Amino acid sequence: MSQERLREETINFAAGPAQLPYEVLTEAQKGLLNYNGHGMSILEITHRSPMFDQLNQETNDLIRTLLNVPDNYKILFLQGGGTGQFAAVPLNLTSSNEDVVDYIVTGQWSGKAAKEAEKYAKVNLVLPKQDKYTYIPEPVQWSFSDKPRYVYYCANETVHGVEWPEIPAVGETLLVCDASSNFLTRSMDVSSHALVYAGVQKNVGCAGLTVVIVREDLLGSVRKDCPIIWDYTTQTKMKSAYNTPNVWGIYILNLVLKWLQDNGGLEAMETNSAAKSGILFDMIGRSEGFYSLIVEPKYRSRVNIPFRVCKDDSPNDELEAMFLKESAERGLLNLKGYRLVGGIRASLYNAVSVMDTKKLADFMRWFYEEYKLRN
Ligand code: PMP
Repeated sequence: MSQERLREETINFAAGPAQLPYEVLTEAQKGLLNYNGHGMSILEITHRSPMFDQLNQETNDLIRTLLNVPDNYKILFLQGGGTGQFAAVPLNLTSSNEDVVDYIVTGQWSGKAAKEAEKYAKVNLVLPKQDKYTYIPEPVQWSFSDKPRYVYYCANETVHGVEWPEIPAVGETLLVCDASSNFLTRSMDVSSHALVYAGVQKNVGCAGLTVVIVREDLLGSVRKDCPIIWDYTTQTKMKSAYNTPNVWGIYILNLVLKWLQDNGGLEAMETNSAAKSGILFDMIGRSEGFYSLIVEPKYRSRVNIPFRVCKDDSPNDELEAMFLKESAERGLLNLKGYRLVGGIRASLYNAVSVMDTKKLADFMRWFYEEYKLRN
């Protein structure tokens, strides 16, 4: 059995589900037993009650305010994860399997979305195929189709650590964004998009809930073969409660959004994200090649940072295994990179503080001194 620990002794750098704010967890403990003094657990209240209506509306309003969502966009809370949206997007935004849709694949998640969309539409891949996703090719290499129904991109590739520095320019074409892993870590111009969605289990909540922000004029023309739970038109009419919604997920999202607001809102999250990633980039830059970043500077994610530990200028599996062992012993958890990329990955979502990140950087400095300088 693994060693028993206190929560205060660990920092969770997982890529999602991920660390949640301590204050949110302590508040949620209360709601688990007795939600807002109603004498019932949040898990026990019905979605056909004024209590839920209020929670649902308040959570909707919080997102609208924090992200500055324009009035002509609807905000939905759906189930089925980000992966559900890989199908829901084409099923809501195309009229048949003959429609052409453009996918900008910059890593594993946009790749999976494109593959799923092939079941429902003709998919054109905008970028040349890449072996390793370490940058985003320049616009001269992009090849859009003639009249795609929409262009799809992933704002931050969680596995590869590739983040769009700006919104891709697509002219008048509808633009769809998967913002699952950088949602509410920076400001975002929603009005440049037809649709933005995000699974909340990284920056703003727990697994089982996806926020979908969709422009109003796109509603009303859903395909007949779209499962009704992902039909944006029906779910808009029913305020995300056509069927039993994930009440717990909406509750946790609500608490995290309030925490976010109390802690300086989006501006503070954006400043913190830059500070946290800067701390790690700086440490890695000073390590004389002992640590090496994988992604090119312009496209480096501020939230998922994959890197390698090297010996004689090459990634070294033994050193990386030792890095993971030593870090875990010090309570720095879940730093193992995704198997496709290997190495180490530090995810610095909203609830991972600047102080948490400094502790990781301190550990990395110690490990470097111990294993590079003494050998
Ligand atoms: N998109 C991105 C960017 C992700 O990181 C993930 C999950 N890690 C998904 C989609 C899929 O989300 P889910 O597991 O909730 O289906």
